[in-house]
Amino acid sequence: MENAMKSFGENVFRDSNLKKRVSKDVFKEFKASQLGKTELSKGAAEVIANAIKDWATKRGATHYCHWFQPLTDLTAEKHDSFLEPTESEELIYKFSGKNLIKGESDASSFPNGGLRSTFEARGYTIWDTSSYPFIRENKNGVTLYIPTAFISFTGEALDKKVPLLRTMKYISEQSLRVLRVLGNKTSEHVFNTLGVEQEYFLVKKDMFEARDDLLLTGRTLFGASAPKGQELSDHYFGKIKEKVINFMSDVDVELWKLGIPSKTRHNEVAPNQFEVAPLFSVANLASDQNQIIMETIEKTALRHDLVALLHEKPFAGVNGSGKHNNWSLATDEGKNLFSPGKDPKTNTQFLIFVAAVIEAVDRYYPMLRYATATATNDHRLGGHEAPPTIISIFLGDELTTIFNNIAYKKDAPVSESSKVNLSVDVLPTFNMDAGDRNRTSPFAFTGNKFEFRMPGSSSTPATTAAVINAMVGKVLSEYADKLEKATEKSLPKVINEIIANSYKKHHRIIFNGNGYSDEWVKEARKRGLASEEASNTALRKMIDKDVLELTQEIGMLSEQESIARYNAYAERYVTQLSIESRTLINIANKNILPSGIKFANLLADHIEKNSKYGKAFIKEQEELLKEVLANITALRKEVKSLEKEINRVKNESKLDKQTDLAKEKLVTGLEALRVPCDNLEKIVDEEFWNFPTYTDLLFKL
Ligand code: ADP
Ligand code: MG
Repeated sequence: MENAMKSFGENVFRDSNLKKRVSKDVFKEFKASQLGKTELSKGAAEVIANAIKDWATKRGATHYCHWFQPLTDLTAEKHDSFLEPTESEELIYKFSGKNLIKGESDASSFPNGGLRSTFEARGYTIWDTSSYPFIRENKNGVTLYIPTAFISFTGEALDKKVPLLRTMKYISEQSLRVLRVLGNKTSEHVFNTLGVEQEYFLVKKDMFEARDDLLLTGRTLFGASAPKGQELSDHYFGKIKEKVINFMSDVDVELWKLGIPSKTRHNEVAPNQFEVAPLFSVANLASDQNQIIMETIEKTALRHDLVALLHEKPFAGVNGSGKHNNWSLATDEGKNLFSPGKDPKTNTQFLIFVAAVIEAVDRYYPMLRYATATATNDHRLGGHEAPPTIISIFLGDELTTIFNNIAYKKDAPVSESSKVNLSVDVLPTFNMDAGDRNRTSPFAFTGNKFEFRMPGSSSTPATTAAVINAMVGKVLSEYADKLEKATEKSLPKVINEIIANSYKKHHRIIFNGNGYSDEWVKEARKRGLASEEASNTALRKMIDKDVLELTQEIGMLSEQESIARYNAYAERYVTQLSIESRTLINIANKNILPSGIKFANLLADHIEKNSKYGKAFIKEQEELLKEVLANITALRKEVKSLEKEINRVKNESKLDKQTDLAKEKLVTGLEALRVPCDNLEKIVDEEFWNFPTYTDLLFKL
C-alpha cells in the first residue's frame, strides 16, 4: 500500500510538474489562461509542449492524443505519434505548441445535431489548460492524453465540456459580484467544485458475452426475476467479496497513478452493485476524472474476467445505478461558500447563496430535468429506488426553520444539530449532521454542498454541473443587481429582503420528507411542482423559450447550439430505443422462440407416449403445454407488432414526433414483448434455456 501511495500522480502532468520545468513568466501565463483570463501565447505554448513531451516520453510515451467528450456520453481520442522527420534521415520526437493547443479532426461522424454538414465537417480540439494531461499505459505502449474542448470550424461547441467551462466562468463572475458587496475584497475567482459518486454493476465476462442484450444495449431486455433480490439488504455496505476487492484495489492503484484521489468504495444496494467516489475537485477536472474513472472501471474489470455495467438499469426489479453530483462553490482562497459556519442563522453570505440555489431550482426545473433525460435513465427515475422526476430540495429542519424565521419574521427555536443518543453506554452521544439525514431527495443540502442525485450512472457530470452553474449564476446576477444598488445604510434591509423573498416565493420546492413515497407525488402535485416523466418531453425543455433565453443570455449555449444539442440527444433517444427493439426481436425469434418450441415438442411427445399413466397426470402436462403455446403465440404477436412500430418510427420525418412515437410504441412494445419471454423462462426446461439468468448475473461473480 505504501508503494501505491508513492505512485500517486505519477501518470499525470499537474501544475507542479510544469512549475518545475518552465520559467516563472511562462508559468504565470499558464495560470492566467487556466482562469480564462488570457490565451496562451505561441511562445509559452511551445515551451509548455516541450516540457510535457519530455515528461511523457521519459515515461515511455510514443504517441499523444487530443482527448475530448463529444455528445455521446463517451470520450473520443485521435492518436498521433511524436515522430517528425528531419533533414537528415533521422526521425526525432517532437511536440509543438501548435499540436498541443489545437488539433484538427475530421469528426463528421459524431452527433452534432446539424451544426456541421459533412462537406464542412472539420472540428477543432482545443487544449483545456485547466485539466491535466495524463498518460495511459497499455501492455504494448504508452500514450499521452491532452484533455481538450471540441468545437466546430466556426466556433460552436460540439462537446460536453465547452458549456461547462463557459458556465464556470459565468458563476465565478456573478458570485464575485455578490461577495464584493458583502465585503469580500480579496477573492479573485470562485471555483465550481464537484465530487462525483459513481455506481456500477459487475457481472462475469462469459455471462455478459452470452447475452446479446447486455452486449448491444448494456441492459437485460428480458429475464425473469431471481427468487432473491435486494430485500434482505445483505449486500448494501456488506463485506466485499475477495474477487471484487482485488478488482477494486487495481482500480484504485490505477486511479491514484493518474492523480485521481479515489477515496470511497463499497457495496451498493443491489446484488453485485458497487460504488466508487473520489475526493472532489474543480468541476471540469472532476468531470474529466469521472470519465477516466468510468473507463478505468471498465478496462480493469476485463482484466479480472468481469464486465462493469454503467447502464442506469441493467436489471429490472432491482435498484439501478446513479451518479450523485456533489456541487459547491469555493473562493480561490479556499473558502467553501456553502459552509454554514458555526452559526448559520447569522451567516448572511451563506444564506444568500443558499437562497439563490432554492430560487434557481424552483425556477429552472426544466433545465435540471433535461440534463438528466436519457432513454436509459428513464428506467430508474421514479422507481422507488431513485428520486422521482419531480425536483425538490432537502434543506433539513435547522436551515428550513432559519429561512422560515427570516421570511415570516418569526422566532421559532432552531434545533441546532439534533442530538442522537444511541442508548449504548460505550458509544458517545453525537451530533447528527443536520444536512445528511435524507437520502431520498433529488437535490439535498448535505452539510456544505448540494448533492444532485437524479443523474444516471452513465451520464457525464459536465452537463449537470453546467446547468446548475447557469441557473444559480443567473439568480446570483439578479441578487448582485439589487445588492450593488444598496447604500451602506440600506444594505442589511436589502439582504434581508432577498433572503425573505426567495423563501416566500420558492419554499414550495423545499421538502424534507421521504421523496420516494407516493404521498410526496400527491403533495408535489398540490404544490404545483412540475414532473416530466419521460425523456422525450423532458429533452424538449432544452429548447423552451425561457431556457433558450437564459442559456443564450449568460453565454452557455447559443440558440443554434441548443437546438443542435436537442437534435443530437433526441436522435440518440430514438436510436437507443430502436436498437433495443431490434435486439430483443432478434433474441426472441432466434433463441427464445426455438427454446419454447423445443420444450413444447418435448411435452407433446411426453403426453402422447405416456397416456398409460392416466388422465390426471396427462392433464397437468397438457396445461403446461397450453401455457407454453400461449406464450409462444403472444411472443410472435408482440414481435410482429414491435417490428411494425420500428418501421413507423423510422419513417417518421419529424424529430419531435419520432421521439414521441419511440416513447409510446417502442418503450411499451419492449415491455410487452418481454412478458412472454419472461413467462417462458419461468417454465421452459433449463436444458433448452441458453442464457445466464438473473440468478447467474446477480449472484455469481
Ligand atoms: P454520500 O454517499 O453520503 O453521499 P460520499 O462520501 O460517498 O457521501 O460522497 C460525498 C462526495 O461529495 C465525495 O465525492 C466528496 O468528495 C464530495 N464533496 C465533499 N465536499 C465537497 C464540496 N465542497 N464540493 C463538491 N463536492 C464535495
Ligand atoms: Mg451520495
